Amino acid sequence: MERIQKYIARCGVTSRRGAEELIKQGKVKVNGELIKDIILVDPERDIVEVNGKIIKPEERKVYIMLNKPVGYVTTVKDEKGRRTVLDLIDVKERIYPVGRLDYDTSGLLILTNDGDFAYKLMHPSKEVDKVYIAEVEGIPTEKELEMFRNGLKIEDYITSKAKIEILKTIDKNAIVRIVIHEGKNRQVRKMCEKIGHKVLKLKRVQIGKIKLGSLEVGKWRYLNKEEIEWVK
Ligand code: URA
Repeated sequence: MERIQKYIARCGVTSRRGAEELIKQGKVKVNGELIKDIILVDPERDIVEVNGKIIKPEERKVYIMLNKPVGYVTTVKDEKGRRTVLDLIDVKERIYPVGRLDYDTSGLLILTNDGDFAYKLMHPSKEVDKVYIAEVEGIPTEKELEMFRNGLKIEDYITSKAKIEILKTIDKNAIVRIVIHEGKNRQVRKMCEKIGHKVLKLKRVQIGKIKLGSLEVGKWRYLNKEEIEWVK
């Protein structure tokens, strides 16, 4: 339980003293009832209105990167009961993933509770590069790589110019580095398939200037100041 004036101040409406004034002026309601005195409220349950508007505490803005393992969904809840990326992160703020990685993709995922930040990072108009490392079946020819770079017809859209280079080969397969700025559903997998090379493993390693680095699989950390400021 918390004193009402402290709660109002924590919601960023005014100072505690200012809140006392608002109460005196009859501008504060708790659960629909006008209050006249200082009372205790339950921040989780009580609905506090000031000047007819429901108020809520301002959440600290948090920015997190996770090295997502394969076998987790990138949603807040999964109707099939599968593990979600939020099971791996222990913070009290209500964060959500920015963009998506497939269940079978690993690597860099950003989570936040800052809608503006999420928008700037993922909106297609911002054309932020995303870098992936993929193991593909077979070894793409130069001609296939050129097709990939120039744009491919996938279902009802044509992909923008992209980058792809072979980093190395392992037996009969290739490890490739891919850069795209779009983020359509399973886009990297579909693009590779289109040039005849199925993706066997896929990992995202970078979004714009934000790099996964040596963060271990399944681990998370807060973004640092430069990483946050680069987006903003
Ligand atoms: N492209 C894909 O195909 N899958 C991902 O998870 C991300 C990009």
